[in-house]
Amino acid sequence: MSLPADYHMHTPLCRHAVGEPVEYARQARNIGIPEIGFSDHSPMADDHFDNWRMYDRQLDEYVAQVQLARQTYPDLSIRLALEVDYLPGQADWIRRLATRHPWDYFIGSVHYISETWDIDNPAKLSEWKKRDPYEVWSAYFDRLTQAAETGLFEIIGHCDLPKKFGIRPAQDCTPLYEKFLSAAARAGCAIELNTAGLRKDCREIYPAADLLQLAFAKNVPITFGSDAHDPAEVGHAFAEAVALARRTGYTQTLRFRQRRAEVFPL
Ligand SMILES: [Zn+2]
Ligand SMILES: [Zn+2]
Repeated sequence: MSLPADYHMHTPLCRHAVGEPVEYARQARNIGIPEIGFSDHSPMADDHFDNWRMYDRQLDEYVAQVQLARQTYPDLSIRLALEVDYLPGQADWIRRLATRHPWDYFIGSVHYISETWDIDNPAKLSEWKKRDPYEVWSAYFDRLTQAAETGLFEIIGHCDLPKKFGIRPAQDCTPLYEKFLSAAARAGCAIELNTAGLRKDCREIYPAADLLQLAFAKNVPITFGSDAHDPAEVGHAFAEAVALARRTGYTQTLRFRQRRAEVFPL
């Protein structure tokens, strides 16, 4: 089986990952991943917004490190990307970011459902106890729908992230998923099968099988990402992710070059 491209990996510039880009590239080559894309956490307009991303002044250094990986492993296809946080009011900043380097794609992710709460942050786990899970999921999917509608992103990241700690609403979330996926389909936006969920309390790929089935029904395309924060995580559980995609009905995956999609068989 040929493996799909791994489009989601980080670097130490984000302050919570280990291993230089060359090491991620070496691991990809060792396990037979044909193409990778670096998508580290992008800087925010305010450098002090939080403490888990690169500073604006490090953006050039990031690009240089990805270039070094390309030079070191010229036979591996390496894409240059960012995982960009979507928050309302950030669209202009994200547009400016897009002009600064020849990016291959942007992953749009929602981690923040307010200016101060990043719902996947283990340091803020106690916040979940103060909230109704359905309220959190609703706020999250509202923002995710907005993110897809902006047209700023080729891929939407880990689209059911609120399940990370295993806290789930009792209500049926299908209407929330439907609304988001319709927006993604209209915008021509892909979603990723992100295997990091398997390493978290939810013990499940992002997104869950039922959400992925709805995505397939709406012709929303897919990519694959390990969300590696360590070279050892590159391509993690990709066989399982491909099996899930195929079971769902998918026969194709996308790759991106200079922000244009290319279709590959799965
Ligand atoms: Zn991260
Ligand atoms: Zn993320």
